[in-house]
Amino acid sequence: MSDLSWAERARDLFPGGVNSPVRAFRNVGAEPFFVKRAEGARLWTEEGQELVDWIGSWGPMVVGHLHPVVKAAIEEALAEGSSFGACSRREVELGEEIRARMPVAEMLRLVSSGTEATMSAARLARGFTNKSKIVKFRGCYHGHSDSFLIAAGSGALTFGNPSSPGVTEGTARDTLVAEYNDLPAVEALFAANPDEIACVIVEPVAGNMGLVAPQPGYLEGLQSLCREHGALFIVDEVMTGFRLARGGATERLGLSPDLVTLGKIAGGGLPLAAFGGRREVMEKLSPLGPVYQAGTLSGNPLACAAGLATLRLLDDALYSRLEAKGEFLEAALNEALAGLPLCVQRVGSMLTVFVHPGPVLSMREVDNCDREAFGRFFRGMLAEGHFLPPAQFEAFFISDAHVQDDLASLAAAAGRQARLALAG
Ligand code: PLP
Repeated sequence: MSDLSWAERARDLFPGGVNSPVRAFRNVGAEPFFVKRAEGARLWTEEGQELVDWIGSWGPMVVGHLHPVVKAAIEEALAEGSSFGACSRREVELGEEIRARMPVAEMLRLVSSGTEATMSAARLARGFTNKSKIVKFRGCYHGHSDSFLIAAGSGALTFGNPSSPGVTEGTARDTLVAEYNDLPAVEALFAANPDEIACVIVEPVAGNMGLVAPQPGYLEGLQSLCREHGALFIVDEVMTGFRLARGGATERLGLSPDLVTLGKIAGGGLPLAAFGGRREVMEKLSPLGPVYQAGTLSGNPLACAAGLATLRLLDDALYSRLEAKGEFLEAALNEALAGLPLCVQRVGSMLTVFVHPGPVLSMREVDNCDREAFGRFFRGMLAEGHFLPPAQFEAFFISDAHVQDDLASLAAAAGRQARLALAG
């Protein structure tokens, strides 16, 4: 037995003690806890503290942790073997379920992480259009592949390296960046780079600079610009897919992307992601076409089982419950925070409390949030038993397992802790 704590042992092993940066809690000035187990909307730490979980593994746990139906599906799949490296029926069942919800995904490819999904979709867009540049938006996060680590959101933003060292100048040159919600900026990029832009990739509702909703007409405008200039419109639904509606933000906002990327909920808490889209585009993918893409664990049977079981739980009644909880929480937070220079932004079951008077429409405003105050707020909320995203630039995720008391208790604690945080 070691005398060292889990955190001390982890720090000796893993850079920053973690296997994904935001888990280190560095930007909120807290010591990370280690999770022993999770059930419903609760986590229990190795030290025995019980926490209401507002992260839900950063989105996937939309039905709550250890849902009995999902657990049973994983156990049933496990009894038949955990990985084959060959075709198995659950891939087809999951693919059909995804396509039924998102008809724009006429064909799909299953992968193991959102990073892989977006990276592969961008390569496919380049291969299909024979153009090399991509357009992304400041503060949007599309995983950590090189092309997307330019002005990236989420942890990249939290740790002050939105454009990572290690990404070559050549790669950076091919990534054009515009401000979110600024359509004229994208028009200008198309005008300045004629016949060079392969795709525009966007978070339809941004969650990785905190929750920022698209302004009316913005996404439709991006879609039209892509059509006009022969670029593919990629909607990154890794976070929003199956969360904001049965068919994700694509359905909720009435979009017709050429390609859509999925992850998180699609794997029900196990490592699975996907990208899909127009048949003509997807047929360019190996082995039908020349654009290469592959994965040892792609379509893993346990992950397919978890994803399928989760998706089958997501019916209209569940989406209505999530929407109602979101509305209640937004109203309760607004009441608790009334008169304070904070703003609450929400779409469906995703929400952010910005330490900014708002409205927050893009990184221009996000840049002016009081991050120190957010850190104090996070620590105070944790002490009151609420585990918030450990960074200002992330969304809270409401799950079907959160009950009215959880929502009311979060709002009441937020009212107290925001006042303390602002007092310094
Ligand atoms: N795209 C979006 C919109 C995301 O939110 C994320 C992760 O948070 C990713 C891509 C990357 O997914 P992953 O962390 O599974 O690689």
